[in-house]
Amino acid sequence: MVKTIVLLLDGLGDRPQKELNGKTPLEAANTPNLDILCQQAETGMMIPWRQGVPLGTEVAHFILFGYEIKDFPGRGIINALSRNFFLEEDAVYMVTSWAYVEEKEGLFIKERWTKDISLEEIMALKEVLPREIEGVTLQWDYSIGPHGVLKLKGDSISSEISDSDPFYDQGYVMAIEAFETNASNAEHTAKVLNRYLRESYAYLKHHPINLDRVHKGKQPANFLLTKWAGRKPNLRPFEEKHGMEGCIVGSSQLMLGISKLLGMDYINYKDLKEGVDLALNSDYEFIHLHTKTPDEAAHTKNPHNKVKVLEEIDGYLKPLVDAALKEDLLLVVTGDHTTPSSGEMIHSGESLPIMFIGKNVRVDDVKTFGERSCSKGSIRMEGCDLIQMILNLTERALFYNFRPGARRLNHIPKTIKKLKL
Ligand SMILES: [Zn+2]
Repeated sequence: MVKTIVLLLDGLGDRPQKELNGKTPLEAANTPNLDILCQQAETGMMIPWRQGVPLGTEVAHFILFGYEIKDFPGRGIINALSRNFFLEEDAVYMVTSWAYVEEKEGLFIKERWTKDISLEEIMALKEVLPREIEGVTLQWDYSIGPHGVLKLKGDSISSEISDSDPFYDQGYVMAIEAFETNASNAEHTAKVLNRYLRESYAYLKHHPINLDRVHKGKQPANFLLTKWAGRKPNLRPFEEKHGMEGCIVGSSQLMLGISKLLGMDYINYKDLKEGVDLALNSDYEFIHLHTKTPDEAAHTKNPHNKVKVLEEIDGYLKPLVDAALKEDLLLVVTGDHTTPSSGEMIHSGESLPIMFIGKNVRVDDVKTFGERSCSKGSIRMEGCDLIQMILNLTERALFYNFRPGARRLNHIPKTIKKLKL
């Protein structure tokens, strides 16, 4: 069966940049390998979810991998999985960050992630965090940098609660509220957590470690910001859902967490050259080769950095080009969302260029891989269409409405339940 490689350039999409004479970084970058691929490709535009909605990498991938946004368990769960937390069925998890706040008509956040804080200091500070409030137990565990995971357990807890972390800089700590519900357990959980935050702050602001840090001219870690509450989800694993053995080849904890969430394998690479080799030499039916460097470059808000990164990526793609043009392989190149390398937004909600290279694709007239060139291509799709299009092009898609077993499938099953004589 044909193997599929999706080369996913994180945050690929961008906006026209003045500094690049009105081109986007992808349009401005010199990318001969991507352009050779483009000349053999069916191209077009993909809307990650809905027009104008900026998505994070985790939810954009969840949709790209064929799962429904309503089933997304939250980034907190992916975060916990990526750090090898064992998820309990009846617990609620959220991500926390040690922050520096000041009292000013509320708690003004001076630094969302306290700088230069050591693991030793964090482990001492965590000792003063409350462990039980109104019948809810709260357990904080370290994950990475200034971050951790807070686990809640109790009879009436809910993950339908808002964040205390405003996410954007220079903001205030937000009161936690029941989110999109007035269920009593959500109200109760929010109340417990607000008490937890207040009590933690009362202990932390006078903690000797923080007093000492202030004395030394360092930022105190006097607040624990919370976000992304979620519960352990019950999702069908990728292979069972799509009939392809799936693997993510990546270099980030987030990708590891997503692979665990969806029951896919994960292979870590050190640089993209190795990533390309691993993708080409592995036997998985579906390989998602992910690089987060375009997104990171865009976050520097210097469009030239993104151009440079895209040119570097292109330099690693020769083996992939050779394989795509010679072997029985379906190659898809796209991104997960738009990260504009200027302006105020973190991510933005435009569509992305996409191209498919392989035996069954209807090659179109687009010659260069870019936002506006691909908008003249033949494909109009949404992120949720990707897997079905791959199944179709690799001749795995099931004739709609056939019923090979107890559940509706999108793919021709590898095994069937035989009638016993
Ligand atoms: Zn980003």
